[in-house]
Amino acid sequence: MSIGARMAYAAALLVTMGLSQARAAQAADRPYPSLPYSPSLDVASMDRSIDACEDLYTYSCGGWQKNNPIPADQSSWSVFGKLHADNQHYLWGILEEDAKPNAERTPTQQKIGDYFAACMNVDAVEKAGSEPLAADLARIEAIQDKRALGAWVGELHARTAGTGVLFAASAEQDARDATRVVAAINAGGLGLPDRDYYVKDDPHWRQTRARYLAHITRMFALLGADPAAAQAAADVVMRIETALARATLTGVEQRDPYKTYHRQTLAGLQKLAPAFDWQAYFTSLGFNPQPWLNLSQPAFVKELNARIAGESLADLKTYLRWTLVDTSAPYLSQSFVDEDFAFYSAYLRGVQSDQPRWNKCVTWVDRDLSEALGKEFVARAFPAATKSKTLLMTTQIEAAMKQRIEKLDWMRPATKREALAKLAKIRNKIGYPDLWRDYSALVIERGGFFRNVTRAISFESQRQAAKIGQPVDHSEWQMSAPTVDAYYDMQMNDVNFPAGVLLPPLYDAKLDDAPNYGNTGGTIGHELTHAFDDQGRQYDGNGNLRDWWSDWDAAAFENRAQCIRNQYSQYVIVDDVKINGALTSGEDIADLGGELFAWMAWQEQTRSMQLAAVDGLSPEQRFFVGFAQWACANERPETLRMNAIVDPHSPPRDRINGVVTNMPEFTRAFHCKPGQALVKPPEKMCRIW
Ligand SMILES: [Zn+2]
Repeated sequence: MSIGARMAYAAALLVTMGLSQARAAQAADRPYPSLPYSPSLDVASMDRSIDACEDLYTYSCGGWQKNNPIPADQSSWSVFGKLHADNQHYLWGILEEDAKPNAERTPTQQKIGDYFAACMNVDAVEKAGSEPLAADLARIEAIQDKRALGAWVGELHARTAGTGVLFAASAEQDARDATRVVAAINAGGLGLPDRDYYVKDDPHWRQTRARYLAHITRMFALLGADPAAAQAAADVVMRIETALARATLTGVEQRDPYKTYHRQTLAGLQKLAPAFDWQAYFTSLGFNPQPWLNLSQPAFVKELNARIAGESLADLKTYLRWTLVDTSAPYLSQSFVDEDFAFYSAYLRGVQSDQPRWNKCVTWVDRDLSEALGKEFVARAFPAATKSKTLLMTTQIEAAMKQRIEKLDWMRPATKREALAKLAKIRNKIGYPDLWRDYSALVIERGGFFRNVTRAISFESQRQAAKIGQPVDHSEWQMSAPTVDAYYDMQMNDVNFPAGVLLPPLYDAKLDDAPNYGNTGGTIGHELTHAFDDQGRQYDGNGNLRDWWSDWDAAAFENRAQCIRNQYSQYVIVDDVKINGALTSGEDIADLGGELFAWMAWQEQTRSMQLAAVDGLSPEQRFFVGFAQWACANERPETLRMNAIVDPHSPPRDRINGVVTNMPEFTRAFHCKPGQALVKPPEKMCRIW
């Protein structure tokens, strides 16, 4: 049985069975000894009863959607998600092997193997209950005055994951001097996914807040509070978080780098927010705030100060207890895990059952020992030939972009020179880091899962701290090698494609160029355009926030971006919720530009080849079906609703149909007629690049 059929069968089972039966079925799940194969163009995934000119997405993905219902433990299901699941199963096998305590293990294998073994020891985790929090809860209880909060919050930030107690800190490249790494203070401290969840005022959002309040109450009850005390504590948390949320910039505002860049000295910060001991905080966290730090949201910090000054110490301690249990819940015993799942996954995202334990453990190894596990993955699963082929594709797409910039009629020569210089400076990072991270200073033990997590997070916090004041390391990766995703970094001015995103069915060495350029070529082009989208265009080739556009060019760009915003803002996501074009335009512009460059690179690559139709599809049609099939997905309405607020990407259907609507190459490939849904008159097409 093929893997695709196997997964569909498993998913169908989970829907019709009860939860305990579903857990039993998951127990029959097995690690994969090798990565399963599916082609980058699969005709079985298509629905040819649909007219491509009306809906290319369903034409290309209708079969996939029918054959791949959302598994009960997922909030959505997609080609990317399925490849991720395949990679997880494969990593599971690697980790089971490395978890065997034999003498032949390398130090790297010992660390990832023992981390995994400790994580899988659910009996020990269950026996520990909430005990891993006991010492911290006692210390919170013992806090005598608010001045002590600085050192304490610094310590919590150094060893807990999540959005940060009260606020968040990071080490980041200085926006105006990308050679320098500085400390940054960011907004944070919220238990709900976005500030909008606290401020939107209609029945849906009021209900979400009521459910959140009930969740906090139950968590306090799990820590031993009686019902009245738990309820009162939840009210305190909600009041503090709501105040912080109101002072937090919206997602759209945060896309403006000038709104989140404010150089500030430590003394200036202390003056702005005197109720908090910032020196003690930075000392305890291990971050050096000299010579200055970036205060990304000053208004938030003012509100933070008002909370610390205005709330009673008892209420602040209640909030600290909440953030501690909220960020720790996934690593505690089952009652905490279940309550955490019931709110964050089941209610907020519509997930029906929790992930199996092995899957979470693989995810945490990937997070906490990312390059140790990545090294094992690459050695087994990423062929050198794939690296060289995709690197070639990247340079071809860069050449296409260069050509395009040279020919633009809306960009003036001086701006073009800057754009071309920036393009030439982009670093291409393919597959995995040149030098793997050294974890020798991180102690991982076979017993004590919670302690391993805490030590790993501290290790990462210290690694971040050590970057402050040092030259920027251009070889660093933000994603692990098995990750099925890619990114462009504006301040590094580099594109990064982990090995995980360059495997079938995304990049398929067994198939010809048409679907591969349509699919992976488009992704490469997409990331490349981020260097020049509404955010990336504000940085120069050295990664500095510097306006290198003349007013004339900037207005012409904005004008074109507005065409995209207008187009996408008309698409309905779910019920009465439409795309927020201001939030998604960066990604929408990247999708369109990326596919244009991929098309040009493909034309160039196949210039001297004789291309033939396959399965009744012309080469051009195969390019577009390959493109559409990267995005095949099924999504739950709850997830669509959440993504409408937090996700800067449009939903998959609109990402495909929205792009080809602006490509005459598509209209020609499918012989579309005026009046069909995906056909715009040429003068109405949006075009940036
Ligand atoms: Zn993107």
